[in-house]
Amino acid sequence: MSPHRGTTDLRAAKRLVVKIGSALLVDGDRGRVHRAWLESLAQDLADCRARGQEVVIVSSGAIAVGRRHLDFGTRVLKLEEKQAAAATGMIHLAHAYQEILGQHGMTVAQVLLTIEDTENRRRYINARTTLETLVRLGAVPLINENDTVATDEIRFGDNDRLGARVAAMVSADTLVLLSDIDGLYTADPGADPAAEFVPVVREITPEIEAMAGVAQSAVGTGGMVTKMAAARVAMGAGCRMVIADGHARNPLQRILDGGRCTWFLPSATPRTARKQWIGGSLKPEGVITVDAGALKALKAGKSLLPAGVTAVEGRFERGDAVLVRGPDGRAVARGLVAYASDDARRLIGRKTSEIEAALGFRGRDEMIHRDDLALD
Ligand code: GLU
Repeated sequence: MSPHRGTTDLRAAKRLVVKIGSALLVDGDRGRVHRAWLESLAQDLADCRARGQEVVIVSSGAIAVGRRHLDFGTRVLKLEEKQAAAATGMIHLAHAYQEILGQHGMTVAQVLLTIEDTENRRRYINARTTLETLVRLGAVPLINENDTVATDEIRFGDNDRLGARVAAMVSADTLVLLSDIDGLYTADPGADPAAEFVPVVREITPEIEAMAGVAQSAVGTGGMVTKMAAARVAMGAGCRMVIADGHARNPLQRILDGGRCTWFLPSATPRTARKQWIGGSLKPEGVITVDAGALKALKAGKSLLPAGVTAVEGRFERGDAVLVRGPDGRAVARGLVAYASDDARRLIGRKTSEIEAALGFRGRDEMIHRDDLALD
């Protein structure tokens, strides 16, 4: 059992996604980054890393910062103006993060995602691999929506949901939503004096959703309804989530010190949830047959290398789910395949060192990475 399950201790996190709302980071009137606040967050993140925790940031604020540089004032922006504002604001935002986190020796890596990067199978596996690589190398990914290209019909629009998708994508065990509300109440605390605070949620029931419908956050694009949607995604991926008021300095330390917040605790771990997703919910688009040696390696928890593949059936894209069969034809696993079917066929029986010569590009070493495999 994973140590994080069921606990509301932030220290138990191994891989932490921290979502930062615009209102915390940016002075709305002047479009400036709150440097002292960001410095205090950087201290908290450095403390997390000193404890051995991996950190990923999902930050809003590009539009809020950028509108100042384009002299939009505080008026309501059209979509294309927001996109223009994000293009200039993101540079300033990323610069502020790099400068301030850099003082603690952290290297920040900017990653801008669209909703398609989390839904399209090929783009999903690309984004996941890059984020994994950054985290493994000790960098801190700084993620925002790619507002410049994402139009209304195809955008997340709020970073609560983006944060949850990112947490699921990188198999994070903890998602922290720092916002301007300290958690979930049974009713709108501003309107109903009988509203009670809810410290822990273990399942998003209709009752919980009804509570979220009334307890809205004052500013920001998110609000409690999007936070519930985020909680559903995170919990489905075996990731616990916490909503906390981030206004004060050192917002993560505040959670550790017992500050008020609402925890959403899933029943599964990220690993089991991911294996269930790969093994149960995705329709296999093809079949890969492996030899006895590869089958043994898979059962021992290893990746599937091209050398162990004896046949490829069907038409699939990189990132699609495929069925894996043993030498006797029996289904042994399902996995997300790292090559499209035409390339996979060219790699049958090849050594990893021969991939580039066979395909004309370097590609991945594995046909299916062990993290993308679910044994039957
Ligand atoms: N991606 C938007 C920005 O950087 C913010 C979305 C949100 O407010 O959650 O400005």
